[in-house]
Amino acid sequence: MQLQIEHVCSLPSRQTCVICSHFFQPNLARVIVYTKDEAQGDLCPACLSQGASFVRTRLEQTLNLSAS
Ligand SMILES: [Zn+2]
Repeated sequence: MQLQIEHVCSLPSRQTCVICSHFFQPNLARVIVYTKDEAQGDLCPACLSQGASFVRTRLEQTLNLSAS
């Protein structure tokens, strides 16, 4: 799993968090989750603030990934 921070020039439209499925308004820096070089989606600030291990655990549950 990789987290990639993307800086955008203009305020993006509302996104859905890949983990908690809540709508949120991204800041100028979006955080995108990548697994196996595939973008899975955006992370909301609330999930992001829980830390990387939380994100990984929830992501594995959500995407049904094998732990690796
Ligand atoms: Zn979230």
